[in-house]
Amino acid sequence: MSVLEDFSNLEAKLYVDGALRASKASDGFDAIDPATESKLAHVADATDAEIDEAVAAANLAQKAWNARNALTRAEALHEVARKLRTLAPRLAEAMTREMGKPYKESADEVEWSATAYDYYAEAARHDAGRVIGPVVDGQFHFTVKEPLGTVVIILPFNFPYVLFAWESSAALATGNAVILKPSECTSLCSLLLMEAFSHLPDGLVQVVTGGGRVGARLVGHNDTHGVAFTGGVPTGQEIARVCAESFKRALIETSGNDPFIVMPSAPLDISARAAAFAAYLNCGQVCTAAERIFVHEAVHDEFVERVVGLSRGLRIGNGLDKVDMGPMVSSRERDRYEGVLWRAVEQGAKVVSGGGRPPGFNAGWFVEATVLTDCTPDMDIMNNESFGPAAPICRVKSFDEAIELANRSRYGLGANIYTTDLEESMRAVNELEAGMVWVNAPLLDNDAGPFGGRKMSGMGRQLGVEGLDQFRHTKLAMIDPHCTAQDFWWFPYADEEAYPGS
Ligand code: NAD
Repeated sequence: MSVLEDFSNLEAKLYVDGALRASKASDGFDAIDPATESKLAHVADATDAEIDEAVAAANLAQKAWNARNALTRAEALHEVARKLRTLAPRLAEAMTREMGKPYKESADEVEWSATAYDYYAEAARHDAGRVIGPVVDGQFHFTVKEPLGTVVIILPFNFPYVLFAWESSAALATGNAVILKPSECTSLCSLLLMEAFSHLPDGLVQVVTGGGRVGARLVGHNDTHGVAFTGGVPTGQEIARVCAESFKRALIETSGNDPFIVMPSAPLDISARAAAFAAYLNCGQVCTAAERIFVHEAVHDEFVERVVGLSRGLRIGNGLDKVDMGPMVSSRERDRYEGVLWRAVEQGAKVVSGGGRPPGFNAGWFVEATVLTDCTPDMDIMNNESFGPAAPICRVKSFDEAIELANRSRYGLGANIYTTDLEESMRAVNELEAGMVWVNAPLLDNDAGPFGGRKMSGMGRQLGVEGLDQFRHTKLAMIDPHCTAQDFWWFPYADEEAYPGS
């Protein structure tokens, strides 16, 4: 079956209790191919009753899943990884058709998803608590790790598979059920993804499509127990507020405005290529994209020249063709991003390359890769996420100035530096206020290393051993196997321990 036929089969469907089913919703929206503007299928805005049904199914499935031993759960997650690899060509094509990124990027994303399942399948059974030295003779003190219950995963459009994989692999491996509310722009490919989970118990992994109302109902539901949110700051704040009402565990991954520092010691050809990649990957729709490029004045002009050359050389087009950059995800996102560029120019930035829409397209939400120079720290583009293919460059006089400006931000997701100076490398790691610091290794992820931000970029961590505790409770247990009287602190108190003055 072709992916387009897959899409028509998924028309207005939800994945609930182990099966695709037609939604009863009267509301919904169309999924549109951003490269051709053709309609792919209608997406349902799930009804309240359907959401409640999914939550009930998840809670039932979770109890049985958590009762399984850790090895059985691990094998089931390795099977997800195996299926993802088998399904990769179809899944990658589906993502590219629905949200626009080049096929290679979609295929990479499927592979990164598979490695996350393989990683957490093993990491979660490695440790399920710890034994603690007791404070009373003969007792046994230890902790046990327990799942939260049903975890709601709310996602943005830019990495629909790998973000789901990072969060669901940790949540499932620790004994939870998950319900995914995908972005409105990646609902079909998320439904298709469920083929990789068909061997798991019914209800353990579900997809409920729709807009903010659907996400809000899942987050606020009395019978969901944890939330993993990735998306914009206002939505993250709203979700954190709702979770605070009932102290529901919330992982909040929001926006970034990552700095990218270029020092004279770095090989310029490499740092220019790295900057162009970090600014334009996925059409700039990456939370850890290079959004503020601080270049030392000694290499500024040459660096700009190289980035301009690379930007002009990018092949833009339909992600299913041989291209480097696809369209933006929606006309709304393109309009918003173009507004960010115009404002930058209004505030004094100079467009040295790109700045418009590429010629030769009758349809599709394409934009050019854009290099901006003369950017200053006060400009809006240097203070807010542009979330599009812009490379705003700011000239700096020293390493200290670069670090100071990099930290002058309300965001703290990732930070990059290009240098071969050991002292600068170490100082950057120590001084940059960010969740991840990349020295000559832009935007890289590692399943075994924690990912997340500080400041307005969010709270909590996914991936690594740190990511496990995001989805589990820690319970302290103390056992006296001899069941002895604990006279050292029980009633009646000994007279000789009374206040000496009485
Ligand atoms: P968004 O905040 O508009 O939407 C994200 C999701 O939240 C969507 O599924 C949406 O339907 C849902 N939603 C909206 N209102 C809701 C509510 N009241 N309750 C529950 N759910 C609700 O974000 P977007 O435009 O889809 O994504 C782009 C943003 O995502 C960017 O800011 C980007 O930086 C961020 N992002 C962050 C990371 C990270 O790891 N920090 C990763 C990828 C993307």
